[in-house]
Amino acid sequence: MRILLVEDEEKILRRIERALKSSGYIVEISGDGEDAWFRGDTENFDAVVLDLGLPQMDGIQILKRWRAAGRLMPVLILTARGSWMERVEGIDAGADDYLPKPFQMEELKARLRALVRRSTGAAQTILQAGPVSLDTRQMLISIDGATIDLSILEYRLISYLIHHKGRVVTQLELTEHVYGEDIERDSNAVEVLVSRVRKKIKVDLIVTRRGYGYTIPDDLPGPDDDMPDSSVNA
Ligand code: CA
Repeated sequence: MRILLVEDEEKILRRIERALKSSGYIVEISGDGEDAWFRGDTENFDAVVLDLGLPQMDGIQILKRWRAAGRLMPVLILTARGSWMERVEGIDAGADDYLPKPFQMEELKARLRALVRRSTGAAQTILQAGPVSLDTRQMLISIDGATIDLSILEYRLISYLIHHKGRVVTQLELTEHVYGEDIERDSNAVEVLVSRVRKKIKVDLIVTRRGYGYTIPDDLPGPDDDMPDSSVNA
């Protein structure tokens, strides 16, 4: 999951950035309104954390422009404490949620998880795909109840595909949301990652759609269905 974090106060910015990174997100930062608007307008993010008081262009204006241009990613605004006018203005401008400063980092993380979930149509903190379950709160993936030890990239890959279950995700989109900016767009890193994940989890979860990308189908047999255990004789 790729987050755009917009905040002009360096200390707060770094604190949020650290917290979100340790929760497995790819975090892109911006401290300037104009730059933030441009990035949100031209790049794809799974959610945005947006401070309202910013140099160059304020948060409300940025949000209004995004929405007017049809950019619909979930946006959580950071508002001044006690300023109900800011909150009303923000929600009217198209914010999906708000958090008054100062806030507890755990609350920011919980609200962000909920926003990302809702934007992909999931209402629960635990998402299920066949025998595989993803606990978004604890960043854990388990198969038939047993936790799988995954690297952060492997976790991001499964998490992104489960959040978009039933839809074919292109290799380019996966590269963007699993690796962020720090990788060549045409590299085959995703292919390598998918095959590593397949070996590790040993269940048929990720399906290749040749020429298009990858998908986790909607109709995988659930954990209670009778599944052949491929790991027994491995
Ligand atoms: Ca500010």
